[in-house]
Amino acid sequence: MTSGIGATVLGYPRIGPRRELKRAVEQYWAGRIGRDALLATAKELRTSTWLELHDAGLDSVPSNTFSFYDQVLDTAALVGAVPARYRQDNDLDTYFAAARGTDEVPPLEMTKWFDTNYHYLVPEIDQDTVFFLAGGKPIEEYREAKALGVDTRPVLLGPVTFLLLAKGADPLARLDDLLAVYVELLGALAAEGVSWVQFDEPGFAADRTEEELAALGRAYERLAAVPNRPKLLVTGFYGPLGPALPVLAGTDIEAIAVDLVAGTTEGIASVPALRGKTLVAGVIDGRNVWRADLRAALAKAVSLLGAADEVVVGTSSTLLHVPYDLDAETGLEPEVRSRLAFARQKVREVVLLGRALREGATGEWADEAVQPTAEPRRDDAVRAKVAALQPADRLRAPYAERAAAQDASLGLPPLATTTIGSFPQTGEIRTARAGLRTGDLTQAQYDERMRAEIARVIKLQEDIGLDVLVHGEPERNDMVQYFAEHLDGFASTELGWVQSYGSRCVRPPIIHGDVTRPKPITVDWATYAQSLTSKPVKGMLTGPVTILAWSFVRDDQPLGQTADQVALALRDEIADLEAAGIQIIQVDEPALRELLPLHAADQPEYLEWSVGSFQLAVAGAAPATQIHTHLCYSEFSEVIDAIDGLGADVTTIEAARSKMEVLEDLRATGFSRGVGPGVYDIHSPRVPGQDEVTDLVAAAAAAVPPKRLWINPDCGLKTRGYAEVEPALRHLVTAARKVRETL
Ligand code: GLN
Ligand code: ZN
Repeated sequence: MTSGIGATVLGYPRIGPRRELKRAVEQYWAGRIGRDALLATAKELRTSTWLELHDAGLDSVPSNTFSFYDQVLDTAALVGAVPARYRQDNDLDTYFAAARGTDEVPPLEMTKWFDTNYHYLVPEIDQDTVFFLAGGKPIEEYREAKALGVDTRPVLLGPVTFLLLAKGADPLARLDDLLAVYVELLGALAAEGVSWVQFDEPGFAADRTEEELAALGRAYERLAAVPNRPKLLVTGFYGPLGPALPVLAGTDIEAIAVDLVAGTTEGIASVPALRGKTLVAGVIDGRNVWRADLRAALAKAVSLLGAADEVVVGTSSTLLHVPYDLDAETGLEPEVRSRLAFARQKVREVVLLGRALREGATGEWADEAVQPTAEPRRDDAVRAKVAALQPADRLRAPYAERAAAQDASLGLPPLATTTIGSFPQTGEIRTARAGLRTGDLTQAQYDERMRAEIARVIKLQEDIGLDVLVHGEPERNDMVQYFAEHLDGFASTELGWVQSYGSRCVRPPIIHGDVTRPKPITVDWATYAQSLTSKPVKGMLTGPVTILAWSFVRDDQPLGQTADQVALALRDEIADLEAAGIQIIQVDEPALRELLPLHAADQPEYLEWSVGSFQLAVAGAAPATQIHTHLCYSEFSEVIDAIDGLGADVTTIEAARSKMEVLEDLRATGFSRGVGPGVYDIHSPRVPGQDEVTDLVAAAAAAVPPKRLWINPDCGLKTRGYAEVEPALRHLVTAARKVRETL
């Protein structure tokens, strides 16, 4: 082993190769297993991860990458910043209370982690927060690994990014107090014999002010000044560090990791202060599943050799965002498989690159560094269609014309009530899906069960009194996966789970070639649902940007081109839904903002192709067809123009959890389309009380003209149970009726 950091990965998946942690925490929450059983599962997962990374031949193995729920909440717990209202009998339950809420208190706000599909819990920091070293997780994990013979590198969320992610009155003003805790922690880690500590500062892969950059410099000056401390590695992944690189290089830290997948090598050699440091060249993509071109990756690392004292290789980011192991997949076509690498395979790539960089490109390298040979699936017809697109293909009739046509055909009341699409995915639904997979159910039997479920959900919605109904999406395992399974050009995995938030995981499909729609996907379900009711039933589709955002995408052609291929498939689906008599069609784009580049300079280009692909999907719809879209977040003002440009008639957004702060934005921006700020937070098992919902509806009605206001939950209901959903929806409908009477 080198005295330096050597070849390494910046983080690793933690939910378990078979989602063991998900099962354990959910059983613990349900009271079916005790604390000891949960802790034992967690320990097994950490153990196998460390041993695997160590045995694979990495020079430095990260620790403290495990989390029971979220690394940002872990950090809040570590520094004593979990709000007192969550306090329970023990730290673990306090932690879960902050993550999930209790009957009495809603959970911490949750939001997207940078431009990924991971979500973190937003710390609440203000002048009254008392920081202290409240926990020992990084120390305990270090000891635990040490006992296995693995000398790890604890990974901490950096103090500046932690504060940048927090909400409250000027969290960054609390940096010095927070640093005192990090200083104490560094001392404690030193006393354990830790030789390297990693601080993640992904906040600096986004645009930052001079003040924030100065805070970064100050933080690492102070941490570097701790006597007898471990060596410090600071990372800033998900993009180029830009001006943060010279700031970090100007401090006395020992190593900096740069993301050379989301960023480039440009400018790195011109930072003279790097010369005395170790540069971790993040050449292996931590966020996508393609096998690396090892020769190109090696050349990239080699090109930086003079820029720093030492150059080593690593992943571009944590591997949290890719599945565990390609070898666990049995169903992938060989041509697709030959082009892939998951976390375990990426570790191997890093190890090989590390050796090649040190010892030259010989031996095993020569055998493994061969290029993947298979070519992406090609469909000349769809390529020709995309190439021939004209601006008019993305244009709908003016909003006023559409609104008039829709008023005439739909005749909905003000404060119309609806849901976002999915209803609870019950045990029976999951059993049926599993039965179809294993052959216990025939397709006809399965379809019959789904129809029975749809009929039940329609009846329930009529009974509750909702105005616009949904079929409930029982046939969909996941809103992206489902479409991926019905479109050509996508591959699905069996075990390719990645953490989305807490115990929730998704299995992103892999877009490996040109995308086409072999036949209608949703039309039969939608028309069946509509046949059961005289209320309008919304058709339900996932938009092109979200399909891309929640898939692993091709990196051999511009994203916009892939998005337009998907959009053309959706456009055909919308035409088929319309032809079948569906008058309202929702095209979900919860990920529109998620993909927004972190650097403002890159945003216009992104918005052009992303908004353009949505427009392409919906612009074939008649003016009388009401197009809804759903966005899963509330930071609305940033992308308001883009949302305005989508060509949707109604936009539903998240709002309940952030206490309707979005209403301010709506008022301020004068957003003039239909809008449904969610009044029921579905991310928590808590049922909001009648008065609480009525207040939210009244607040919304004061901010948005009632004719354009929609009343709906924050998001789909699939992760909830009927015991929560039914009373919550009844409160919602009652609230809408009450407020309607006051108009
Ligand atoms: N229609 C989807 C559902 O209700 C939307 C979910 C989402 O935006 N994440 O499940
Ligand atoms: Zn949502």
